[in-house]
Amino acid sequence: MRHLCPYCGNPCLSSLQKAALSSLNSKDCNHSGKPVSTPQALLVAQLVVLVVCLVAAKALAPGPIAILAAGVPVAALLLFIQLKYVPLVKSGYSPDDE
Ligand SMILES: [Zn+2]
Repeated sequence: MRHLCPYCGNPCLSSLQKAALSSLNSKDCNHSGKPVSTPQALLVAQLVVLVVCLVAAKALAPGPIAILAAGVPVAALLLFIQLKYVPLVKSGYSPDDE
């Protein structure tokens, strides 16, 4: 699965490359050479969901097993959502640029 560049519309990143992206880093498109990233809101949402799940797991069943049992599936789900549903954006993008 290739992910489309927000600049030129060509497939520019593999899923592995996209999985390694966040709003804190970027990767250059193979075609246009421009930096692409994922939306900043995604990173915030991922962190909030992960922290809430880990805190809930710790409250329900303290211990490293509970943290792993909750954290690993949640992290996998968040990664799946990022790969499947979140489009790439122009790096450093903000609505004010429009
Ligand atoms: Zn491009």
